[in-house]
Amino acid sequence: MNFTPPVLVVGAGPTGLVAALTLLQNGIPVRIIDKEPNPNIGQRGPAIWPRSLDLFSFLNVPEINDLGKPFPVIRSYQPGTLELMKEYPMVPHIEPTPAIPFYVAKFIGQQLLDVILRRHLEKFSCSVEMDTELRSFEQSDESVTAVLEKNGMLETFNTKWLIGADGAKGIVRKQLGLTFLGETRDDALMITGDIRLTCVGLDRSYWHQFGYFKERGLSIRPTDEVGEDGWQFLIFGGDVDLTKAAQSEELVLEIITSLIPTEITFTKVIWMSEFRTNIRMVNKFSEGRVFVAGGIVHSPTGGQGLNSGVQDVFNLGWKLALVEKGLADKSLLETYNAERLPVISEMLEMTTTILNQTLKTGNISTTRSPILFMLGINCRFSDIVLDEFVIPGKPVNAYWRESDVKTLFGLYRPWYHTVLVFAPSHTDATLTLGALEAYDKSIVRSVVIPAFIFIR
Ligand SMILES: Cc1cc2nc3c(=O)[nH]c(=O)nc-3n(C[C@H](O)[C@H](O)[C@H](O)COP(=O)(O)OP(=O)(O)OC[C@H]3O[C@@H](n4cnc5c(N)ncnc54)[C@H](O)[C@@H]3O)c2cc1C
Repeated sequence: MNFTPPVLVVGAGPTGLVAALTLLQNGIPVRIIDKEPNPNIGQRGPAIWPRSLDLFSFLNVPEINDLGKPFPVIRSYQPGTLELMKEYPMVPHIEPTPAIPFYVAKFIGQQLLDVILRRHLEKFSCSVEMDTELRSFEQSDESVTAVLEKNGMLETFNTKWLIGADGAKGIVRKQLGLTFLGETRDDALMITGDIRLTCVGLDRSYWHQFGYFKERGLSIRPTDEVGEDGWQFLIFGGDVDLTKAAQSEELVLEIITSLIPTEITFTKVIWMSEFRTNIRMVNKFSEGRVFVAGGIVHSPTGGQGLNSGVQDVFNLGWKLALVEKGLADKSLLETYNAERLPVISEMLEMTTTILNQTLKTGNISTTRSPILFMLGINCRFSDIVLDEFVIPGKPVNAYWRESDVKTLFGLYRPWYHTVLVFAPSHTDATLTLGALEAYDKSIVRSVVIPAFIFIR
């Protein structure tokens, strides 16, 4: 490679791909690598919450919302029968409004989401270098030197910044010596996977749950992404040897057969894996020129992991672009830690509460709170935000806000900053607009908002 991109992104899951896309849209070239020879498969974490749909729309990736499917209604059954016990929505349906244009959470498998993001990278002539593993790195005040292994050969790569989006077991967090405190929950072991099967009498427009979370339970959610008879399954419960079952398709099919009392035709297990719930987070997200994104593991009950990872890295991406272009001081990057750590810590508390409730009651049949939509996440407490609405002495919660106003979404893009000038009329804004003339128009744009709009 003759030209050296200033950023190395390690890991091409959703977090790494969003990191690369944000930087590329801001005109910063990146090199993105993944140690696996082929892209990851599987539905894995498919819930995309409204805040992330906002983010993907902002990033010009409308396909996530367009191809994603609204959450199906859940049906649970009397044990050992197909007699309906309960029918309920996983999340309440709330109609979109101008202030919240994406109010309907969507399901899209991680595999498809990754494909879509990779296509967007290609528009910038960027593709993921597969089979390329970060082995170690060193940093100085000016640069980062990474040792990569590709096809059995070692390569030394010098760059200016490194983003570790290398997942829960990643090397970047470990090599930075960050703590990863928390707990491993052996009481919340499960198997997840994608399967193709047909069940007589089971309606594909619903998400079905059988048995009990604590003892022996099964959830199957229809997904056409893996075939017209495709489902994502989750098996849980202390009465099943899940570690053993995760190694054997035969045992998994046996468990499914024992829990769905109807005629089943199996076509194929596409992918499956054991999932051990860990609840941990890093103590900080960066050290010098190296950053981690998605530096958490948590219970999947709240479906916040992928969503948090992509939101982390977007927060970092635009800041890194400004610093790399020489338009902002390096200290701006410190706000990445300050703004994201409280969000992640609150999220972890919330998903753990949901997990504990699920374990206590033994059933997963509860409608989730809209707090999971992540629309309340804010940075009002950040050092770079001047918030004159804050009541002194009253802490600002990082995960929830009460209200929003009109739609401004169409004005924003990740690669420029929008200055909102509130004034009674355009003429009254002349002085401010004149001062803004000094800035590069490709980076700073302004909009005059007539003040009367906000008079209630
Ligand atoms: C059952 C289940 C349900 C879930 N449900 C949801 C949900 O509904 N919503 C949600 O938001 N989240 C959910 N999650 C969590 C979500 O799947 C993860 O948070 C998400 O995969 C994290 O994405 P990522 O890009 O950060 O990491 P990953 O997807 O783990 O990607 C990391 C990548 O880094 C690569 N890599 C690792 N080390 C190196 C190295 N040294 N060099 C190069 N490459 C490397 C790996 O090969 C991998 O491709 C769920 C998880 C499970 C298991």
